[in-house]
Amino acid sequence: MPNSRDAIIQTLKDARAYVEYLDELGVETVESFGQTPTGVSVSVSAPIEQTVARISEAERSIRIGAPPQTTFFDQSPSILPGFAAPTETLDEIWQDIGDCTRCGLCEGRTQVVNTHGNRNARLMFVGEAPGADEDAQGKPFVGRAGQLLTKIIEAIGLKREDVIIGNVNRCRPPGNRQPTLEEAAICRPFLFREIAAVRPEVIVVMGNTALRNLLEIREGITRVRGQFQDFQGIKVMPTFHPAYLLRDPSKKRETWEDMKTVKAYLDSRETQRSSN
Ligand code: URA
Repeated sequence: MPNSRDAIIQTLKDARAYVEYLDELGVETVESFGQTPTGVSVSVSAPIEQTVARISEAERSIRIGAPPQTTFFDQSPSILPGFAAPTETLDEIWQDIGDCTRCGLCEGRTQVVNTHGNRNARLMFVGEAPGADEDAQGKPFVGRAGQLLTKIIEAIGLKREDVIIGNVNRCRPPGNRQPTLEEAAICRPFLFREIAAVRPEVIVVMGNTALRNLLEIREGITRVRGQFQDFQGIKVMPTFHPAYLLRDPSKKRETWEDMKTVKAYLDSRETQRSSN
């Protein structure tokens, strides 16, 4: 007879398998029904990817005995405890991450690649996961895509030291494949905590993995790039991933437009601040 913890984990596994099956059938959103702690009945419609991520997160929380970072009733995937006032420092978060073995990506990595850069940055960039160069050096975006990112940053009059750069996943996936939904769901709470600690004014999400793990968006980057989104009161600018720009340089023009929008927003905040 399994104990109740194992039974819950098994139920969550079954639920995830079922939702993944619905995904294969082409279903895009699922409805979940339930009651809030105050007894109000609710029905929530959520995109499939987000539902899988939440189930994985709930399963992980039960395994390690920690409260889940999100609940099935949250409309946002990004509940940030203490977001209004940071309750922990980046060093504390990185200490918690440690020599992480929370998902299978630890097996193939050389080292964990944490978010890196200016701790007081007004601007943050988020990518997908480290590649070979990042895995070797322990810093995000130091390979070819990283060199292009440096040029993008400099194009708006900033230096790399002015900004902070991170990824959804912090261990290199084998063969540079995209992280699975489960791997992303396990790792992204650390990114959310870093965002809460730094509280940048703008986050640039580069590519679909970053876009879909920060925002409740199922549309692809091509559809939403260039339009500011919201993440816990922070402006989010979706744009193309620099690795994509290396493959299709014709898309650099759109990225430049997106970055000009970011720069204009940051400048307008600066002007507002100095006139107050
Ligand atoms: N691509 C990413 O998404 N992140 C990195 O750190 C490097 C390449």
